[in-house]
Amino acid sequence: MPSIRDVVVVGAGPNGLTAAVELARRGFSVEVFEARETVGGGARTEELTLPGFRHDPCSAAHPMGIGSPAFAAMPLRAHGLEWVHPEIPMAQPMADGGPPVVLSRSVGVTAASLGARDAGAYRRLMEPFTGRWDTLAADFLSVPWRSLPPRGPVTLARFGLAGVQPVSWLIRRFRDTRARALLAGLAAHVMAPLSTPASSGIALTFALAAHDKGWPVARGGSQAVSDALAGLLAECGGTVHTGFEVKRLDDLPPARAYVFDTSPTALARIAGLGRAFRNFRYGAASFKIDYALSGPVPWRDPDLRRAGTVHVGASAEEIGTALHDASIAGRAPDRPFLITCQPTVFDPGRAPEGKHVFWAYGHVPNGWDGDLTGAIERQIERFAPGFRDLVLARAVAGPAELARRNANYVGGDIACGAYRGLQTLFRPRPAWNPYATGHPAVFLCSSATWPGPGVHGMSGHNAARAVWQRLRGPLGAG
Ligand SMILES: Cc1cc2nc3c(=O)[nH]c(=O)nc-3n(C[C@H](O)[C@H](O)[C@H](O)COP(=O)(O)OP(=O)(O)OC[C@H]3O[C@@H](n4cnc5c(N)ncnc54)[C@H](O)[C@@H]3O)c2cc1C
Repeated sequence: MPSIRDVVVVGAGPNGLTAAVELARRGFSVEVFEARETVGGGARTEELTLPGFRHDPCSAAHPMGIGSPAFAAMPLRAHGLEWVHPEIPMAQPMADGGPPVVLSRSVGVTAASLGARDAGAYRRLMEPFTGRWDTLAADFLSVPWRSLPPRGPVTLARFGLAGVQPVSWLIRRFRDTRARALLAGLAAHVMAPLSTPASSGIALTFALAAHDKGWPVARGGSQAVSDALAGLLAECGGTVHTGFEVKRLDDLPPARAYVFDTSPTALARIAGLGRAFRNFRYGAASFKIDYALSGPVPWRDPDLRRAGTVHVGASAEEIGTALHDASIAGRAPDRPFLITCQPTVFDPGRAPEGKHVFWAYGHVPNGWDGDLTGAIERQIERFAPGFRDLVLARAVAGPAELARRNANYVGGDIACGAYRGLQTLFRPRPAWNPYATGHPAVFLCSSATWPGPGVHGMSGHNAARAVWQRLRGPLGAG
């Protein structure tokens, strides 16, 4: 290693590793420093409960991973990453007692599951975008104004017009509760009220990803994503130091650029940037439970048993109330909206024969210190009676435990930043270059930046571009 590195990356989550790989592939010398003993951040796999049960403590389903333009440009398969597709990407039980809504790879099957009165409206909503994921993702997952001209200007404009609306407006196009519940549940991935501007964009993104790419899990667990990135980094000459929590810039070796896969608050503290991100806000927290089960989840409806992800939120009203409680009212919901995943139905090697791992989380206020276990299990039992009888062990993580596991989850906010006001679209703050900071050699690449949370590496990709432009420019020469 030269005495001065080109780039030092702080944090080995998907974004830090992506930035490191892309810069190393361009010939820069790169070193990564990670606080935990293993790489991965929010894409890791651990035996959290019993021996032989391999849980994903954070990400489990990867529509954004398989759809990521950054990952698509990397030979991750050669480094062990294999996507496993469930039969149905996502299904959602309904309050009306009818069959679940099914988010299928097929727009037609999905539309049919919404009922005759809304099938046409769903097809019309998705039609301009289906088959166009690659162009659209390349445009909207980069920073639009830094990537002009867009590859698909018309599609991007149509997507922008529909996506900028709150999902509470978008669902008015539908007459029945089923379609409304589907879109509300998809938008709820960002843990903000349904009236949040641009929440339609989240719902459309997840629906389109299901139709064009699927919602796969990584064979063996999400750690495979991180291990593949780390393997590629090593092949490109980069190094990773684990068990190294960076507290001050002086802890790090001299480098021409420092790229932080951390929260903005931690970056400001470590790099001495004072109150640079004082207006940055964190959002509602998650309450996560990883289960070891003696059998598959006994969902009442067979479609739910065939889905990789099950959204437990039986109507848009129920989902809206849960989100409002957690993010506005400051209380834990009685009926939390749950995102659940059952990876071992499709990837059985992660648990002893016949046994299963199961993953579920709901939303609670930031920093909340209560126990949501009872409410979460009541929600599951509503649609899977007998679930509790199958529980062999559970690993419970409320906001404090989530923040202890990963400093980026401030107060348990797994999105590393609220979806509120201007911050919804301009993360971490309005700026021509959102990855640059007040220090010319310091950059931010975590999910606190555009395009936000998810295992897709696009914040790292966009930040890497900003770094190499700086290093190649007059200020970086030398
Ligand atoms: C419960 C849960 C469920 C989720 N489900 C999904 C899902 O199904 N699909 C999906 O796509 N996404 C999911 N996510 C979100 C996804 O995991 C994150 O958005 C993603 O990991 C963000 O990547 P990142 O690289 O920005 O940060 P992170 O993955 O958080 O990585 C940051 C890394 O930086 C390290 N670090 C922080 N501070 C320091 C320091 N001072 N010194 C050294 N190292 C430091 C941390 O230890 C960590 O390894 C989930 C997250 C959680 C918690």
